[in-house]
Amino acid sequence: MPFATYPRIAVNSRHHPDPARRLRRMHDALLDAYGPQHWWPAKTPFEVILGAYLTQNTAWKAVERTLANLRAAGALTVDGLRRIPLARLRRLIQPSGFYTRKAPALKAFVAMLDNEFDGSLDKLAAQPTAALRQRLLDLPGVGPETADAILLYALSHAVPVADEYLRRVAARHQLIESAPGRARISYGHLTDLTRRAFAADPKENHAQLYNEFHALTVAVGKAHCGRTPHCENCPLADDLKGSF
Ligand code: SF4
Repeated sequence: MPFATYPRIAVNSRHHPDPARRLRRMHDALLDAYGPQHWWPAKTPFEVILGAYLTQNTAWKAVERTLANLRAAGALTVDGLRRIPLARLRRLIQPSGFYTRKAPALKAFVAMLDNEFDGSLDKLAAQPTAALRQRLLDLPGVGPETADAILLYALSHAVPVADEYLRRVAARHQLIESAPGRARISYGHLTDLTRRAFAADPKENHAQLYNEFHALTVAVGKAHCGRTPHCENCPLADDLKGSF
């Protein structure tokens, strides 16, 4: 099957030939339909980082329960997480699942912050984007989506974030194909396409555009583009008709 693991939907042949341009218009249609999303849902950059780890393979509702546990235990700060014993941390984050893996991963993040950046998120954020992304990827329990979510939403670096919702939309709208022999469109292809979609926008707007676009794709994924697509009344349905 050429397009990810999702069934193809008939797409009109009158499409603009550049999928990046279509994706840019899809962003505008989603913003018109849903308005600004004000992401990430957190009060501090460190809460964003905790949420980015905890939400892996887990619904956000479960993350909210976990964050409430951590708040009650005084562990929603770097210092709080530093002080809390690993066994207790495991118990507190149990609602988010995979706690035996996620608890040491969170501790490893704080250890890196302490050992290399004096425990300062500002010092961490001041690193060049490419080096910082690689440092995050070298940590246990951090894949590309988690690293980019931390970079964009906690550390204010202009990097696109891709996820399963964007993968579904890209596959169903036939914006990109998976690589030969691969069932799924790669994470890197999705972020490359997103970069190209916003390449003509002023550079100083990229962080905000990436921020909004990721949040909007989550919104349309939850409202319409789940495992079964509900295209009727979807803000992106016109793209399937070749109008974008
Ligand atoms: S539900 Fe919306 S985003 Fe998903 S395939 Fe249909 S029109 Fe596209």
